[in-house]
Amino acid sequence: MAFAQQLRVPGPTPLPDRVVRSASRPMINHRGPEFAVLIRDVEEGLRWALHTDNDVLIYPCSGTGGLEAGVVNTLSPGESALFCSMGSFGDRWADIGAAYGADVHRLRVPAGEPIDPEDVERILAENGDISTVFVTHNETSTGVVNDLPAIAAVVKGRGKLLAVDSVSGAGCIPLETDAWQIDVLVTGSQKGWMAPPGVAMVAVSKAALARAETTTTPRWYLDFARERKFQQKGQTYTTPAISVLYAIQEGLAIMREEGIDNVWARHKRVAEMIRAGIDALGLKFLAPEGHRSDTVTAMRNPLAGPDELKELLTTLRTRHGLVLAGGQGDLVGKIFRIGHLGMVDESDVYSILATLEQGLHETGMRSRVGLAVPAAQAVVRSVQVSEQPAGVG
Ligand SMILES: *Cc1c(COP(=O)(O)O)cnc(C)c1O
Repeated sequence: MAFAQQLRVPGPTPLPDRVVRSASRPMINHRGPEFAVLIRDVEEGLRWALHTDNDVLIYPCSGTGGLEAGVVNTLSPGESALFCSMGSFGDRWADIGAAYGADVHRLRVPAGEPIDPEDVERILAENGDISTVFVTHNETSTGVVNDLPAIAAVVKGRGKLLAVDSVSGAGCIPLETDAWQIDVLVTGSQKGWMAPPGVAMVAVSKAALARAETTTTPRWYLDFARERKFQQKGQTYTTPAISVLYAIQEGLAIMREEGIDNVWARHKRVAEMIRAGIDALGLKFLAPEGHRSDTVTAMRNPLAGPDELKELLTTLRTRHGLVLAGGQGDLVGKIFRIGHLGMVDESDVYSILATLEQGLHETGMRSRVGLAVPAAQAVVRSVQVSEQPAGVG
């Protein structure tokens, strides 16, 4: 049996004790002075983490609400837009665009592949009427990270508005909202921010706010202008998710103590350790080298079939307390995923890998045993060696 659960799905993610304590504080008046301090601190922290001077609008909804906000404020019915999709979250954004009557151009790549910036360039060249490009930074359903700076350069080179879903990337992997000229940047509380689900955060550029003024799509709850007007007064339009905002505030405080460059470096190191261990187990990645996400790793099912994969995930959860994610949509039974974002460090990786190895063994995979953890340790040793200043050691 397992005494504690090790939650390693790509959101919701584990909460530091400090965050749990913050979220359990008593309620305050959301039209009072304490709330104004809270919301301004959260906005300021998010601007710091996202490398932006833009307004960050805060909505009480899951990440998908942030995706919907990005559509209804920037596209009018019949307006041409390009949606670049690498998987189920990219598809979802395009479906939202279609639901609101936009003229949706879909650039869809097979599961496991990234978006090729040259394809974006070609589509924009062929369709001059496209006003806005929507792209996923980090596709959680396939464990693929896009070359976002290259895609952004193409989009901005043609003067289009750029909307980015970085729900599972922001706060974990390098993201330069202003330098890459991202007009609408969407993220969500339950992924890299070490907070519970329930809040979407959307950083909006001046160009995006200007676009929203002329966009005719009917909207209310997610309207940029109304939300911004309230946040400028230190409030939110509706009753906010106060407990989740306390949690985000504390998560940001922890991130500030570590430093954003160190947060990014830790996610990179942890992901390299996971990949080294997975490779040593003889498992195959869904994503090609160079585009493997540093927040979620997707592996092909190494067992006989979908039933055996289900058995593996059940064994890991019930006997060992390790909760991993299966595939989504067409990928159910074909892949499984490890979330390594937010509160995750080297010792978590050792535990995840050793437990996974044991689970595979118990589910009947005749794999090499005892290799995963040493492979991960070797990554740490090589990082330590390369970090030593010249002449030391
Ligand atoms: C989690 C996630 C979302 C939003 O999902 P919600 O369940 O609505 O919070 C959107 N895009 C990506 C890439 C995600 O990982």
